[in-house]
Formats: sequence, structure tokens, C-alpha cells
Amino acid sequence: MKTYIFQASIFFTLLFSFSSCSKKVYEINMIHESNSCVATMSKPKNVILMIGDGMGLSQITAGLIINNQQLNLEQFNNIGLHKSFSYDNLVTDSAAGATAFASGVKTYNGAIGVTPDTIAAKTLLEEAQDKGLETGLVVSSTIVHATPAAFIAHNRLRKNYEEIAVDVSNHTADVLIGGGKKFFDRRKDEQDLISKMESNGYEVKTFLDGDIQNLTLDPSKKILYLTADEDPLPVSQGRDYLVPATELALNRLNQSENGFFMMIEGSQIDWGGHANNSDYIVSEMIDFDHVIGKVLDFAKKDGNTLVVVTADHETGGYAILNGTTAEKIEPGFSSTYHSATMIPVFAYGPGSEDFRGIYQNTDINKKIKALMGW
Ligand code: MG
Ligand code: ZN
Repeated sequence: MKTYIFQASIFFTLLFSFSSCSKKVYEINMIHESNSCVATMSKPKNVILMIGDGMGLSQITAGLIINNQQLNLEQFNNIGLHKSFSYDNLVTDSAAGATAFASGVKTYNGAIGVTPDTIAAKTLLEEAQDKGLETGLVVSSTIVHATPAAFIAHNRLRKNYEEIAVDVSNHTADVLIGGGKKFFDRRKDEQDLISKMESNGYEVKTFLDGDIQNLTLDPSKKILYLTADEDPLPVSQGRDYLVPATELALNRLNQSENGFFMMIEGSQIDWGGHANNSDYIVSEMIDFDHVIGKVLDFAKKDGNTLVVVTADHETGGYAILNGTTAEKIEPGFSSTYHSATMIPVFAYGPGSEDFRGIYQNTDINKKIKALMGW
């Protein structure tokens, strides 16, 4: 009799498993260690927003061609387009573009986390902190540059780097990795923000302490790792931290019981566009795609992580011209600034279906908040 009940329960468990596995991810399916189904929930536990600054379709395509016709981006099935226009210009800059994602408001070019009236607008990172999630920013620009700044600072002007660094130092984000050491320790007002952050529970390390993957870090402290005194180097000149920094951040933030929000930026795809330098674009694009691969590996194993990859805008009016070969892009540029072309959005994980279609850049913020119940 006992054996019979036991077998029956296995039978019903299997039946339930198969029927729930055939469904999409919107229900809570707790199936232990089965091969094809991992525990998935309607509400993502973790959100990773990845921004390739200046990454339009030509940037992606050029990276694809040179990377032997394949990218990790091809693993995404839920794909949409966003309209990148800012409040005051059909051609956005990175400050307004990142504020649209971070705070869900269209604002003027140059604005960091503020509305067109220069009122501070709460960001996804701040929202996540309020809800008890851990938070992180990992970028290949300075940590006070427009894209990361729009998630952690509020300023009427993107160039106010020293003021933005004060906002960073007043925050309690758990992992901060990017360049710009000089805005923390050699300031006009002579404040030492590094000591200030150390006394606020941060372990602060810099490029002078060695590569991030070789550091011994205190797991009980928050991390600020400053990767350069000013802008980090391009990949082509030896920058190689974005993948190990992402892995370190994922390991750290994944300790959180309540989940985490992280923004990772491939910052310099944009700089290659401004320089009309196709090789610069391609090397930064491929580096960012390596990071995407690591994030997808994590998200696939985890099962409860929403990953959204997009760009703020396209840069350079970049085109791939006739004469391009598998080894070398024949580039065309129509601008040394950004362009207004629509921007692809790639989503993976619980709720990723919501990112299909064509919508405003601010809707990325709204979709994430709706999925998280914020
Ligand atoms: Mg940027
Ligand atoms: Zn730019």
C-alpha cells in the first residue's frame, strides 16, 4: 500500500511536471533539477539591464561579421525596437537616453536623472534599493559618465562630474565598477570621497591595486572598484575588465535573497562611432557581446533573471558598405554624432515576451517596473 501511494505520487508529480513545463514562464513552476525546466516565476527575481552605448543594428552586424558570423545576441528570441527620441530632440544624447531607461521620463539632452523641469526622478536602481534588492553598476566609461550616472545621480547637466561623484558617494549601491578615480580623490572642493565611502561600508580598490580578478575582497563590504583615473582604455589598447567585473558583480549580487538590479554598459561602442572608427566599434561590440554571453549563462542557470539588452541610440550613422569582407568592414559614416534610428531591444527570461513590438525608450522602464510589481 505504501509503495502504491509512493508510485502514484511520482506519477502525478511527473504528470504535473510535464504539463507545467510545456507552458511559458508565467506560472510558478518549481521543478527540482529537471533537465529542461528550471524553477521559473512570473516575476523576475533579478533584473540585468545591459546598454551598448551607440549600438545600432550596423554596430551589431559589424561585430557579427568580424566575430565569424556569430554573436551571443543571437540567443535572444524576444526582440523589439524602441524609439530613442528625447524630450527636446529627435536625436537623443546618452544622458536623456539613460534617464529614459532609468526613470521612465523623456527629458532634455544632457539631463541626468531629472525631468525637463530638473526635478529628480527616481531611478530603477533606487526603486530596487527601496524594495530591498541589491544593486550594481558595471561600465567601461567612468562611473560618473552619463549612462551610469543616470541610474545613481540627479543633476541638471551631465558634465558636472564632481557633483555626480558626490551623488555616487551618497548612495548605497552594492557594486560599482568603472573609471574616473580623479573625480573621487582629486577634486576642486578637496573632499576625499574615497575615504568617505570607506567609512560608509565600502571596500574601495583601484586599478593601482591590480586587476579585478586578482583582488581579495571582503565579502561583508560593498565594492567600489575604480578601473582608471579618467576614461578606461579601449579594448584595443588593453582594457579587459568588463567580463571579470561582470562575473564578480554577478557572484556578489546573487548572494542577495531579495534579488538584484544591475546595469552593465558597453560604453565605448559610442566612442568608436564618434571617432568614425569602424575597428574601434567592432572591438568594443565584440567585447560587449562576450559580457552578454556571461550574463546569459548566469540567467539560464538561474531561471529567474530578466535580461534586457539595448542601446540608448545609434552613433555615427554607421553603414556597412559594398566591399566588406569576412575579415574587414568597409565602413561608411554619415555623422560624428548620434542618429535617430530605432534601436533593437533583446530580452531573455521571465517576462521577456513583454519586450516584443515597437515602443518608446521610456517603456523599457515601465515594462521592468510592471514585471517587478514596482
Ligand atoms: Mg554611455
Ligand atoms: Zn555619444
